[in-house]
Amino acid sequence: MGGPKNMDTMYTATDSEKNKIMPGTLYLVATPIGNLSDISERALKVLSGVDFIAAEDTRNTLKLLSHFGISKPLVSYYQHNLRQRGEAICERLMSGESCALVTDAGTPAVSDPGEDIVKLCAEKNIAVSVIPGPCAAISALAISGLSTGKFVFEGFLSGSKSERKRALSSLKQEKRTLIFYEAPHHLLKTLSDLLEFFGNRKLALCRELTKINEEVIRTDLASAVGYYTEITPRGEFVLIVEGSGEESLKPDETVPAYEQVENYIQAGLDKNTAIKTVARERGVAKNEIYKEYLVYSEKKLR
Ligand code: SAM
Repeated sequence: MGGPKNMDTMYTATDSEKNKIMPGTLYLVATPIGNLSDISERALKVLSGVDFIAAEDTRNTLKLLSHFGISKPLVSYYQHNLRQRGEAICERLMSGESCALVTDAGTPAVSDPGEDIVKLCAEKNIAVSVIPGPCAAISALAISGLSTGKFVFEGFLSGSKSERKRALSSLKQEKRTLIFYEAPHHLLKTLSDLLEFFGNRKLALCRELTKINEEVIRTDLASAVGYYTEITPRGEFVLIVEGSGEESLKPDETVPAYEQVENYIQAGLDKNTAIKTVARERGVAKNEIYKEYLVYSEKKLR
């Protein structure tokens, strides 16, 4: 095999090999994110042709396989067994078997355990081949209506408070469009954090893509926080957030701070989040905005 010196050797199939199942190869097979018709012809061919399939959730994958009439030995490969199971899969690959890796949905190795086994194969010089297809991040970006020329994929924000704070602070000045994955039960917290760190920005909430309840809500962070304070989020979400350079919702600083707080409260934010957001947007202490708002509220009461 050729390739530049001092670089990891990459496996390149010759033309005649391209549609064959090659021994000793790990196939990353993208699967539908909601609509079974999105499976590719090549994905089905590979799933039918490999020696075995490694699946993040074997029950999910069994449903997919039985829908297409494919029967294949399955091994589970998921977050909590990825090290030891990854090694075992590599052993089988090195002995000449072929394996297809499928994760829960979409493209394996994008924010899922697939990343780990691809690194392991790279270290061991095992051939990896990709069968491209659905990916939630790219589908959401495409439909978002926001700038798509340059973007940053952040995946899931960390659950640790300090990690999250560090990540959001470092993204505050990011000019490119931002992509986040989020589970429904963490959505409101994430939207509130994004609003607090970034100020109000345009956002597309892409929910249940390719499924019956597919929905794209093109709104802004403050309105989204207000909306999901009232309504319980359901389904799977990708958040596409405008980069900092766009400034389409740059706060109008000619509007007094107390009025901006009031606007956010009207949009559905609680008082504290509204005050924190205005303080961050204007680069002033929270206390200052709080005092201004207090004077305004007292006047309103008289
Ligand atoms: N590897 C997958 C891919 O290529 O899209 C992503 C795996 S990640 C563990 C799962 C996350 O993807 C979900 O929490 C959600 O944020 C997003 N997702 C998956 N399917 C989706 C769908 N149909 N609509 C919206 N988001 C989806």
